Amino acid sequence: MPDVIVVGDGPGGLSAALFLAKNDSTVTVFGQDETLMHKALLYNYLGIPKMTGPEFQRVSREQVRSFGGEIQDVEVSSVAKGADGFEVKTADGKSQQAQYLILATGPANPLAEGLGIAKEADGLVADRNGRTSVEGLYVLGWSTRLKKIQAIISAGDGACAALDILSAKAGEDMHDFDLIEE
Ligand SMILES: Cc1cc2nc3c(=O)[nH]c(=O)nc-3n(C[C@H](O)[C@H](O)[C@H](O)COP(=O)(O)OP(=O)(O)OC[C@H]3O[C@@H](n4cnc5c(N)ncnc54)[C@H](O)[C@@H]3O)c2cc1C
Repeated sequence: MPDVIVVGDGPGGLSAALFLAKNDSTVTVFGQDETLMHKALLYNYLGIPKMTGPEFQRVSREQVRSFGGEIQDVEVSSVAKGADGFEVKTADGKSQQAQYLILATGPANPLAEGLGIAKEADGLVADRNGRTSVEGLYVLGWSTRLKKIQAIISAGDGACAALDILSAKAGEDMHDFDLIEE
């Protein structure tokens, strides 16, 4: 059973998964690589002068996997909260459980709405770390910012949610810093 399940494999979900996997949390991402990033040509992602969306997705998925994050190319059909965390059912008839659930599913959010997450004009309601009113459930990225749709914003949201989960698990504030060797 992974510590965290991420539904959605755009920049938001993959960024959360990267931070989690890199810091020894077990994480499974569900998504079929169908993000609208595949239409984008990035000139506005700081640190990347120019990159196609498909290349960004290819590199990002590889980066998550390189730290041990699992990505399953399957659609999630339902999510539910139980006594021991969240149960996620997939279109292939399988199910998985995890203590934490991150929904980063883009503009359409039937899964989150099914869990009773409130919705406002700008999207699903979460705090700035992606926490929702349901304990252990995070929503982030485009889902929560229908009017500020940028890849780097979703990736930042994913990082915030991951650090929040890592901090909760550690019982202290966590950062993810790496140093150049002297
Ligand atoms: C034409 C176009 C051009 C763009 N150009 C740029 C640009 O140049 N620069 C820029 O910064 N941004 C650009 N964007 C915006 C960018 O695509 C978004 O900001 C970004 O995709 C948001 O990332 P996200 O992770 O929040 O959501 P998404 O990328 O939408 O990721 C959500 C993922 O969840 C998956 N998903 C949904 N439901 C399920 C489910 N039930 N089970 C499994 N998976 C599920 C979806 O298939 C999708 O892959 C562009 C968008 C469009 C439409």
